[in-house]
Amino acid sequence: MSKKQCLLVRYRDFLPVTPQTPIITIGEGDTPLVRSQRLEREIGCGELYFKLEGCNPTGSFKDRGMVVAVAKAVETKNSAIICASTGNTSASAAAYGAVCGLTVFVVVPKGNIALGKLAQAIVYGAKIIAINDNFDKALELVRALTQKHHIALVNSLNPHRIEGQKTAAFEIVDALGDAPDYLFIPLGNAGNITAYWRGFVHYKQAGKAKSTPRMMGFEAEGSAAIVRGKVIPNPKTVASAIRIGNPASWEKAVAARDESGGVIDYVTDEEILSAYKLLAVKEGIFGEPASAASVAGLIKKAKSGTDFSKKKVVCVITGTGLKDPDTALQSAHTLPEIPADLETIEKVIAQG
Ligand SMILES: *Cc1c(COP(=O)(O)O)cnc(C)c1O
Repeated sequence: MSKKQCLLVRYRDFLPVTPQTPIITIGEGDTPLVRSQRLEREIGCGELYFKLEGCNPTGSFKDRGMVVAVAKAVETKNSAIICASTGNTSASAAAYGAVCGLTVFVVVPKGNIALGKLAQAIVYGAKIIAINDNFDKALELVRALTQKHHIALVNSLNPHRIEGQKTAAFEIVDALGDAPDYLFIPLGNAGNITAYWRGFVHYKQAGKAKSTPRMMGFEAEGSAAIVRGKVIPNPKTVASAIRIGNPASWEKAVAARDESGGVIDYVTDEEILSAYKLLAVKEGIFGEPASAASVAGLIKKAKSGTDFSKKKVVCVITGTGLKDPDTALQSAHTLPEIPADLETIEKVIAQG
């Protein structure tokens, strides 16, 4: 079987790829869409699928947009890129910048970034600037910086990021033969919901899908700017990837909701952590806390009476749980230490 073409080639007709664009890849895209084994029945969906974006090379969907943004930065002769990040954007920028030999600056909120993500930026060789403030402030600073200096901004304000992230919607339609009825997605800076919606619309316009899904975006309760209709100056949630109080693509997310007949709502940290755990123990899927907001949203809607029993539903699992070992370990009891003999272990096993 021949290897699939890389993302920039496979979807080149839908991307800003020109003959001058360098074709780079570290294996992004073409992620699994897996059918639920247990939650589908328990929640009561006709069909439930998970789009496993944690299977991208740096462990989140950010790679889809970053490959396009970095290729375009190289095409336009930039030698440096910069981003503000809650973690995954910096990991992705650092990796694609590295493969292209660029200098990568990442501005992160100090002490507020998951350990695995910081480790990635360090190992990929990015220059890390940790500020004593939150993501929204970091983004404000990099926007000002890129207006003064010839450094490419690779946050999702960069339109190439959104273009690349559209490809996840294409893959879902390619796998299912048409769009699902509902797409559940975590909502932070709102770039991804914007990208998916654009992808579904473009694919329908191109005759590759007959329908488009309802877009169901979920913020965390402590950073639910769009739901509350106001900027949250000090966003708080366990889900650091969506700890954003002033989403850059606010209006576009609202448009995606309204044009698709969808919903933007929030889920509590409790609901997020419960869905995070359910995904792991019921489906064998270890997503990061922010990823679980999609599943938490589906459970919330099912509980409050939406009938999904004849519907095809996709939940986007945006990033891998391995990036955030601290959250995983917080729910663990301390590991009992026992003597290394057969009898003692047999006793433990007998207890189930
Ligand atoms: C970036 C990110 C999000 C939020 O996506 P937005 O485009 O900012 O709305 C959600 N989950 C994970 C794992 C992310 O990395």
